[in-house]
Amino acid sequence: CQQGERDLADLAWAHRHEPAITRDGYRVEVAANLGNTARAAEVVEAGAEGVGLLRTEFVFMARRSAPDLDAQLAAYRSVFDALDGRPLVVRTLDVGGDKSLPYWPEPKEGNPFLGVRGIRLCMQKPALLETQLRALLMAAGDRPLRIMFPMVADWSEWRWARSLFDKIQAEVQATNVQLGIMVEVPSVALNAGVFAQEVDFFSIGTNDLTQYTLAMDRGSAELAALSDGLNPAVLRLIKMTVDAAHAEGKWVGVCGELGSDPVALPLLVGLGVDELSVTLRRVPLVKAQVREWSLSSCRQLAEQALKASDAPTVRQLVGAAR
Ligand code: PEP
Ligand code: MG
Repeated sequence: CQQGERDLADLAWAHRHEPAITRDGYRVEVAANLGNTARAAEVVEAGAEGVGLLRTEFVFMARRSAPDLDAQLAAYRSVFDALDGRPLVVRTLDVGGDKSLPYWPEPKEGNPFLGVRGIRLCMQKPALLETQLRALLMAAGDRPLRIMFPMVADWSEWRWARSLFDKIQAEVQATNVQLGIMVEVPSVALNAGVFAQEVDFFSIGTNDLTQYTLAMDRGSAELAALSDGLNPAVLRLIKMTVDAAHAEGKWVGVCGELGSDPVALPLLVGLGVDELSVTLRRVPLVKAQVREWSLSSCRQLAEQALKASDAPTVRQLVGAAR
C-alpha cells in the first residue's frame, strides 16, 4: 500500500504542471496557500496556478511596531515576482481571536473568537488596513491581485472595507484587481445573494466556517472528531455561496483545510467550487485527484451528501464511490 501511495505521488508530481481537468473535461483551478514569503519561490515549482490565500499576518507579527509601507511593499513584491504573472489572492490582516499583535494590546474579551477580530479589528484601526491596501496595490501594478477581507459577518463591514479600498485605488490605480470576501461566518453564506452583487469573488474559509456553524472551537482536541467540515450543514452553506456567486457570474474558491481533504474534493467540485487553494506540498496530489473524478459523478455525490444526516455518513458515501 505504501508503495502504491509513493507511485501515486510520483505520478502526481510528474504531471503537476498540467491543469486539473476532470475526466469529462471540467477544469478546476488549483492554487497554493502561503503563510510567508520564504516559500513563494516553490509555488510555481509545485504546479500551483497561483496563490489562493496569502495569510499576511507574518508581515505584522514578531515586531515591535506596525510595518511601514516600504516593509510591506517589499514583502508583497517578492511574492508577485515569484508568481511570474499568476494571480495572487491576498487576505488582509486577520488578527484577534487566537492571534495578537504586540503593538495592539488585546482587548479583554470573554470570547475572543466572537470578538474584535479580522475586519472588525481593522475597523478600529483603519490606518493599519489603509497602509496594507496601499502597499498591495503599489506592489501589484498591472499584475493580477485579488484582495479579500477576513471574518466579514455583516454588510456594513463589507461596505466599510470597500470604500476604504475605493479611496486608495483612486490614488494608486493598480490595473488588474478584484475585491472579495472570505466566507467564514454563516451569516455571509446565508446572505450570499446580496454580497454576490458587489464582490468580485468569494473564498470559503472552511476552518472558521465549520467552527462558527457547529459552534465548536477549531482548536479543541476533544471536539476534533465531531468538528468536521463535511457536516451537511457546512456543505449547504457552501452550496448557497456557490449558487449565489454563479448567479452573478462571480467565482468561488475554497482556501480552508477542507480543500486538502481527498474525501471532500469530489463534493467541493460537485458543489461547483471553481478554485481550490491548498497547502503547497499537496498541490500536485490535489490536481491528480481532480483528474480521477468526473464532474457528473461529483455532482451526484454532492446532491446525496446534502441530504445526509451527518459527516460520517457523507464520508461513507464518498468512500463507497471511490
Ligand atoms: C479558514 O478559516 O478556513 C482560513 C483559511 O483562515 P485561517 O485558517 O487563517 O483562519
Ligand atoms: Mg479563518
